[in-house]
Amino acid sequence: MMAKEPIVVAIDGYSSCGKSTTARALAHRLNFVYADSGALYRAVTLFFLRKKVNFSDLGEVNHALHNIQLDLRPIDGDLQVWLNGEDVTSEIRQMYVSDAVSEVAAIKAVREELLKVQQEMASQKSLVMDGRDIGTTVFPHAQLKIFMTADPKVRAQRRYKELTEKGEHTTYEEVFANLAHRDLIDTTRKESPLVQAQDAIVVDNTHLSKGEQLDLILGMVRAIIKSAENHGFA
Ligand code: C5P
Repeated sequence: MMAKEPIVVAIDGYSSCGKSTTARALAHRLNFVYADSGALYRAVTLFFLRKKVNFSDLGEVNHALHNIQLDLRPIDGDLQVWLNGEDVTSEIRQMYVSDAVSEVAAIKAVREELLKVQQEMASQKSLVMDGRDIGTTVFPHAQLKIFMTADPKVRAQRRYKELTEKGEHTTYEEVFANLAHRDLIDTTRKESPLVQAQDAIVVDNTHLSKGEQLDLILGMVRAIIKSAENHGFA
């Protein structure tokens, strides 16, 4: 049985530690909406790169933000990312976007704009959202907050495998450097940096399979749904 009160599950953590894979599978199993906030930052970055926006010029940044229409569309258990009517789902995963995304995500105006977009997604339906500041800034009252982490070398190896399987030409060293660079900017930026929310549960998946991790978090959400039912909220 599903709780009537919408439930928000916030999954935050470092780059490439399996947040999106787990969040997507979790939403699928629970029939919740899945929202990948990183995809929104990536789509904005793609737009800025195409339009050659100077990231340090606030006027240019604001002008560009007014011309962006973003849409996350759930299709066949997957999530498509649309930018101004174009499907950019694959393009936003390319390394040239990954290399610039953390600079763009550190811009206050960008975060303010995407904060609105993200909060609007949690309307009537329960939701799983993954990112960097979901439990701290976007949904500080989320019923479940997960802070996901894993050994950086393991994260880089997993990401490298994923990219090369998709045909992208890159090296393990390049992927490792990109993750380290993004982690550094994400944790040290002024605007809602990546930090563990006080009430978040840490999940280190260095030695966990995808299935084990999913079962662990599924158990946590089901306990929340059960508790809501027992207290008459469902
Ligand atoms: O999750 P993903 O790695 O695709 O996110 C890409 C980048 O977007 C991150 O490295 C981070 O700089 C930024 N991001 C963010 N806040 C979020 C989600 C992503 O700053 N909530």
